[in-house]
Amino acid sequence: MTKKSSVCMGTLVTQRVYGVFAHRAIECCQRLFESLESEMSVFVPSSDIFMLNASAGKGPVKISPRSVEVLELAQRVSVLSSGAFDVTAGAFVNLWRTALAENRVPDASEIAVTSRLVDYRKLVLDSKHSTAHLKIPGQSVDLGGIAKGYAARLARETYQTYGVKSAVLDLGGAVLFVGRRARSSEWVAGIQHPAKERGACFACVSVVDKCVVTSGGYERYQLHDGIRYHHIIDPSTGYPSNSDLVSCSIVSHDPVWADALSTACFVLGSERAIHLVESIEDTHLILLTSNNEVYVSPSLRDSLRLLDADMRLI
Ligand code: AMP
Ligand code: MG
Repeated sequence: MTKKSSVCMGTLVTQRVYGVFAHRAIECCQRLFESLESEMSVFVPSSDIFMLNASAGKGPVKISPRSVEVLELAQRVSVLSSGAFDVTAGAFVNLWRTALAENRVPDASEIAVTSRLVDYRKLVLDSKHSTAHLKIPGQSVDLGGIAKGYAARLARETYQTYGVKSAVLDLGGAVLFVGRRARSSEWVAGIQHPAKERGACFACVSVVDKCVVTSGGYERYQLHDGIRYHHIIDPSTGYPSNSDLVSCSIVSHDPVWADALSTACFVLGSERAIHLVESIEDTHLILLTSNNEVYVSPSLRDSLRLLDADMRLI
């Protein structure tokens, strides 16, 4: 097994890869992650997404076919989740980032003004000409909720190219399990405990060739006047989402769906999340509510093990 960790796309990325060409596969994926970051980061002034946001309300910008593809996927999830995931949530993300950095929370009028900018239907994509356009000045795309899944999808293709049959790619909250563990056993994916140190899990689930992605308010937040403001915004209110969920994990073969849906379902809350996921093929979920109740899709029930005595399976 060859292992490599690096900081990329705003997170610690760890690859554990088996096989003769493991080393080459790892290096190739590393370059892939760096190129995705330079194309899709909202902070890199030469990136496609930066230029798209800077041109909001002006006109279409030419971007890479890959950027068009990830925007299309993000827009599809926005439609599917009725805007709980919104590819244009960037305006809210920026508002909260700026306000909290100034040690304050946005006021009601700022939320109201910004909410007019958050509308995934105003993102116009043209895959034929490889362009994108945000129709309203001030609109902003943020791919933070889907980019890791997209990176994991492309990484899996890279591993395949190098004949890798067994690997684990951890993108911080999004973990891709390629194939099986050695000796044909299953991988065991731990689900992070929201109140304990990194790596401490409240449940684990056995998987083969799946991606497991968890979204939770405990992951990234800032304190203001003793209140936690986390990084996932409910576009219907403009405030950090306040559903009954503490964390939401999606298990799917496709990392893109797993990533985007974990963010969407966290915002939707348990009832609507279960309903949404039931309608999508090969997508399963593990929910933890603020009452310490754990819900797991029937299809996953036999593979899940609860590790925390304070939590109840419902
Ligand atoms: P994740 O950790 O995958 O759940 O994604 C959270 C990130 O997605 C945040 O840090 C923001 O960059 C972005 N984001 C926050 N709220 C939303 C939302 N409602 N829809 C889409 N992206 C969001
Ligand atoms: Mg996500």
